[in-house]
Amino acid sequence: MSLIKSSTLSLTERIAEVRAAVFAARQRGDRIGCVPTMGALHEGHLSLIRQARAECDFVVVTIFVNPTQFGDREDFAAYPRELLSDLDVCRDVEVDLVFNPANETIYPASSATIVDVEDLSTVLEGKYRPGHFRGVATVVVKLLNIVQPDIAYFGQKDFQQQLLIRHLCRDLCVPAEIRTCPTVREPDGLALSSRNVFLTADERESALALFGALSLARDLLTAGESDIDVVRQRMRTRLEESPGVQVDYTTIADPATLAEASKPLSEMVALVAARVGATRLIDNLLISVPSADDSSADDRSS
Ligand code: AMP
Repeated sequence: MSLIKSSTLSLTERIAEVRAAVFAARQRGDRIGCVPTMGALHEGHLSLIRQARAECDFVVVTIFVNPTQFGDREDFAAYPRELLSDLDVCRDVEVDLVFNPANETIYPASSATIVDVEDLSTVLEGKYRPGHFRGVATVVVKLLNIVQPDIAYFGQKDFQQQLLIRHLCRDLCVPAEIRTCPTVREPDGLALSSRNVFLTADERESALALFGALSLARDLLTAGESDIDVVRQRMRTRLEESPGVQVDYTTIADPATLAEASKPLSEMVALVAARVGATRLIDNLLISVPSADDSSADDRSS
């Protein structure tokens, strides 16, 4: 006879109910995991949730499309919202609690405090999306203070975000361990993203250039290319060759600081951002060249 596990998923919009459920779990000796998301859940999110399920006894998924991390001309209103199917997905992977707060719960009219991680907020994504990381940092601190997890899970897909959150938790003594989980891709390499639903079939084809540019960087660097500017330029050209793609940046950086590399390092991260039609996409790839000497890394964050 097979065991049928009945679902125990709970859903709440209220901070007090999250606290009560987490308190009860802690009383039982549970380890608490938290996966912050903006919903429209896909396999990328699920990989984080499965990792949390494997390491923790009580798993909280937060679903909140955070208005403060969207710029005025960005896609906050159009961002996909699919709560009912998200809940089905959460039930399937045995999430214990979904926290889906209203805007007023996270940002009461009287709220006056923001969190700004100074150095990392202004480079790369921060340069193209002013204020974005202030919104991310502020909401993540709130969510981690509400849930108070032992471990919080983030995706490598948003490389700069996970690094910024690590700095934030260190600087503000947030007692959560931060886990970064690998990027989940379609079989052809396109990184899963809630924004991929906006792509037309032609744009979807063009969007493959992001992973193409990252793979090119990896191939060049592992084959011994020593001129980083050549690599950056080849990545840019690879993107520009795709119809409808407008490049924001292509770069190679130190994964610990995001300082631009001036020559190959033993560990590097290649990062790209581009608009494909009206949809802005980002992606990155960690690249190891164990023979590279990394003693001369620039450090813009110092
Ligand atoms: P979002 O809902 O876009 O805010 O993403 C919630 C979390 O899922 C973030 O930590 C993302 O980095 C992570 N994530 C998004 N896409 C992927 C992916 N393709 N692979 C792994 N993690 C992802």
